[in-house]
Amino acid sequence: MSRNNLARTLREPKELVDHGLAPHADLAQLEKVGARYAIAVTPEIVALIDPSDPADPIARQFIPSADELMARPGERADPIGDDAHSPVAGIVHRYPDRVLFKLVHVCAVYCRFCFRREMVGPGKDSALSDNAYTAAVDYIRAHNEIWEVILTGGDPLMLSPRRLSEIMADLAAIDHVKIIRLHTRVPVADPLRITADMVGALKPSGATSWIALHANHARELSENARAAIARLVDAGIPMVSQSVLLKGVNDNPAALEALMRSFVECRIKPYYLHHGDLAPGTAHLRSTLARGQELMRALRGRVSGLCQPDYMLDIPGGAGKSPVGPTYLSPQDSVAGRGEVGQETRYETRYRVVDYCGEVHTYPPQP
Ligand code: SF4
Repeated sequence: MSRNNLARTLREPKELVDHGLAPHADLAQLEKVGARYAIAVTPEIVALIDPSDPADPIARQFIPSADELMARPGERADPIGDDAHSPVAGIVHRYPDRVLFKLVHVCAVYCRFCFRREMVGPGKDSALSDNAYTAAVDYIRAHNEIWEVILTGGDPLMLSPRRLSEIMADLAAIDHVKIIRLHTRVPVADPLRITADMVGALKPSGATSWIALHANHARELSENARAAIARLVDAGIPMVSQSVLLKGVNDNPAALEALMRSFVECRIKPYYLHHGDLAPGTAHLRSTLARGQELMRALRGRVSGLCQPDYMLDIPGGAGKSPVGPTYLSPQDSVAGRGEVGQETRYETRYRVVDYCGEVHTYPPQP
């Protein structure tokens, strides 16, 4: 069956086989994966896949694999511990000044490494009920410390522009909410959803909106995706990126460099490179922290500060995110400082600092 002129999203393993995106011999295993985790590959993403390449970095992100049936020790259904910080349905309040607001449980595409893979998909409730939505907005309104609301999910850009604009207006009407951030894959996975109406919905009066685009390989920034991003940025909506370090997708310096340069070319500031979370059945896509640090060091030597994301680890269990290096500065030793005559000798720290080529230098002690 031809992959050309594909008009709809592929959701069944058999469809993936019929379109040459998965081997027929894997069908029985992929049916088992599909019974557990959602599958969706949009025509836009299908067009980016080279089916003749068994290691295609786009296919690795979206085409299911039998490896997903193998859960490893330490993997868990709620890897970043959202549930422990959810005071009402749809809200995660982990840090004082911001909340996650999970409006919908569906996405345009389903990433094989998704950290919320147990919660998203068409088999789940597609959106918060009216009552749950009202309770969530009431919670935000009642907490003056909430400065930023992060719409995530699922993908908030799966909502219609009309519904999204109502939600943005509800949030922007709360005095203490100044920032509304939306995390999305839609500009890449389904760029034609970024219509003038959608752009209008993302610009409420009374709050500033930001968009965090999720993409992991430079090829995702296709011509259509770049045009969709330009519609957002031209409208004055600032954008940042978030990516996941993925084995066989972007775990080499050239791939990361190309991805970060592509973001910056699109006027998107690289923001986070996430270490892969301990979601069930994702070990085959997860790299190591040591490799992640090595890649970040390599990136520092290849591209400017504009192209540098922070390498982040979500601490399993819900303790939040921490930047995980690498570090370039470490104490070398302590040297005696010059004190006043008769005073105790003060010791000051001398540092070792590593440059972008890996050369080590000394930074002198400061009084
Ligand atoms: S778009 Fe986000 S929430 Fe949806 S499947 Fe991908 S990682 Fe998960």
